[in-house]
Amino acid sequence: MNKSILAALLTSALLLPMAAQAGKPQVTILATGGTIAGSSASKTDTTDYKAGSVGIDTLIAAVPEMAQVAEVKGEQISNTISGDVNDQVLLTLSKRVNQLLNQQGQQGVVITHGTDTLEETAFFLDLTVNSKQPVVMVGSMRPATAISADGPMNLLEAVTLATTKQAENRGTLVVLNDRIGSAFYTSKTNSTTLDTFKATEPGYLGLFVSGQPKFYYSAAQPIDKSFFDVSKLTSLPKVEILYSYQAQDTAMLDAALKNGAKGIIIAGNGNGNVSSNMEAAIGELHKQGIPVVMSTRTGTGYVSTKSFAIGAGFMNPQKSRVLLQLALASGADLPQIATYFDHQR
Ligand code: ASP
Repeated sequence: MNKSILAALLTSALLLPMAAQAGKPQVTILATGGTIAGSSASKTDTTDYKAGSVGIDTLIAAVPEMAQVAEVKGEQISNTISGDVNDQVLLTLSKRVNQLLNQQGQQGVVITHGTDTLEETAFFLDLTVNSKQPVVMVGSMRPATAISADGPMNLLEAVTLATTKQAENRGTLVVLNDRIGSAFYTSKTNSTTLDTFKATEPGYLGLFVSGQPKFYYSAAQPIDKSFFDVSKLTSLPKVEILYSYQAQDTAMLDAALKNGAKGIIIAGNGNGNVSSNMEAAIGELHKQGIPVVMSTRTGTGYVSTKSFAIGAGFMNPQKSRVLLQLALASGADLPQIATYFDHQR
């Protein structure tokens, strides 16, 4: 990080009053990297910075206001771009969140994460954390060194949300740009803008006004949500995503299976459709009991069940991959897997 900016952040941390933390709700921040921990030599650089270069202690020191709402502790789980978050990081996070939330006095957990794949980790935690306490995922679209960096406010709002009673029993939450979303439905919808996290059909759960969360509805859980116990898992089955297009042949499907894929997600055309070649090959896999889940490349919408494959319901390709990994790890067969994707089928 640019030395003068770092010095300014640390000085402001020392000058601003660190409220006495005793008696405040306990919140642990698990840091994994991303742009919120990114830095650049230029204050206008919002694309070529180095993500995952600032540690959790520096992030906490840069937002002393957090001490006014919670007794905050930080743990560094990893420090990478979110494209490098792997099974080990996911399993470590889930086990640690479950452990922390079982501890006496721990009100909530915040996870800092790169925004690119934040929705996958958020969804994974939503399906594997067994607690009513708030689990809040947060990132930023601008690095810490940028003019109008969004990370500090996002982090303060995430910690505030983790202390909020009204945030309980809502599953894992996603907070960025003053918006509160359900991890089950929220996705990154724009590559560079601050208002990127949206759940196009279900909408937001609430928003922040002057540092305070305001919810639209009382607590509820998504109808299709399942719970998977990952406490004994050390790895996840390999699942590949294939992107569909006109007159697609089966070369990539064959390669994925040869490379050890135990299941396949198709980012299909429209309502999960593929070329005739692909449909025939997928039908054969279905008969052999190898799960192929048809999602959509449209970005949003419901994919219905096919005669030759499982329909992804409301799950986009990247969330379908997480769900299929968890379903396979639990030993589910094809009919059971289909119900995980749509309990109302
Ligand atoms: N490349 C970054 C990441 O996902 C982007 C971000 O955090 O916004 O790690």
